[in-house]
Amino acid sequence: MSRIKVHDKYFVPYLSEKEILERIKVVAAQINADYSGTKPLFIAILNGSFMFAADLFKNICTDAEICFIKLASYKGTKTSGQVVTAIGLDMDIKDRHVIITEDIVDTGRTLSYFIPQLINQQPASLKVAVLLHKPDAKVFEVPVDYCCFTIPNKFVVGYGLDYDGLGRNLSSIYQLEI
Ligand code: 5GP
Repeated sequence: MSRIKVHDKYFVPYLSEKEILERIKVVAAQINADYSGTKPLFIAILNGSFMFAADLFKNICTDAEICFIKLASYKGTKTSGQVVTAIGLDMDIKDRHVIITEDIVDTGRTLSYFIPQLINQQPASLKVAVLLHKPDAKVFEVPVDYCCFTIPNKFVVGYGLDYDGLGRNLSSIYQLEI
């Protein structure tokens, strides 16, 4: 892996595909143990989580379902400060064990908007699985129950995460070069 350019910015290698997939397997094993004998529903938040959700879900070996919703709050490398529901939930989650699957918790704004909406629908339980967590960027308190990587407060692209629409197809994760 070497330095890459996305739009006007340079990014350096940060997490390899191998590291990501190995860590996802470990987290999936925790989820398999915790949800053994239940039928959890994964709710993956598009767009950024599509690769993570796919690789995590492939490693789930209890009966499980997955559905997708689309929330948006990011423009460029800075959060826009507003969350909108672009594609809503089309499943009944009452009495279901729900696992929100998100690419990254940055300020926490997106999940602090979404979690209360789910709680209103009375799931049996609600947990959050994230690929990346940036605790230093926290503005809103959100629970992170399963986390693959805790990372510093620097912008990253790849493995589903974009910079202004580009970079999602990279199979590994790159960090903004200083
Ligand atoms: P939050 O609402 O927690 O501030 O941010 C959540 C969303 O912002 C994520 O789902 C993701 O789409 C986007 N985001 C936050 N940090 C980054 C980052 O470092 N890189 C990219 N590409 N997107 C980010």
